[in-house]
Amino acid sequence: MNKKSTPKSIGERYYGGELEFPFRFEDFDCPRPKDMPSRFFPGVKRLDYRSAIKADVSRVRASACSDMPRCWFIDAWFDCEKCGKEYCWKAKVQQIWFERFQVWSEAYPKLCPECRAKRRRLHKALNSFGIESKHAILRSTDVKTKQSMLELIDTIEHLSEVPLTKGILEKRDILKRQLEKMTTENRKQ
Ligand SMILES: [Zn+2]
Repeated sequence: MNKKSTPKSIGERYYGGELEFPFRFEDFDCPRPKDMPSRFFPGVKRLDYRSAIKADVSRVRASACSDMPRCWFIDAWFDCEKCGKEYCWKAKVQQIWFERFQVWSEAYPKLCPECRAKRRRLHKALNSFGIESKHAILRSTDVKTKQSMLELIDTIEHLSEVPLTKGILEKRDILKRQLEKMTTENRKQ
């Protein structure tokens, strides 16, 4: 039987005992960018093959069920799932994702860079809110700490697409009352 005529997944080849451990992703390479299966770019509008960069497949993470790792990085155009704007996922950016940060080989962006940046800012704001809110609201006697917490809540409200939770709204009310009281007391002194 000619083995080359029956392509198998990495898992099949590995568990079938045909490969030495550890298996090498180089064995599953595809020679031309156009040979890359379309599932690496779901929903893509167009690909510019002239931009293709050969992947160092020994650095790319792929699952054992995959028939091959991502072998090429190619400029790809998508529509953002959130704002609908067209954006280009650059080959160079893909190289950083998959070789340097070793993001899962099947991953692709669903959002444009602006929407992704916005989401990162929101997550960061929510994180600092979680870490700092108790201190700022209950214990701090510092006006500035409380004011910066109020600003943080405004940032979250501005970036989030859903209304603020009841907990955050309550904390905002408490903060506002505390600040009012503190400024009145300062005036009296
Ligand atoms: Zn977007």
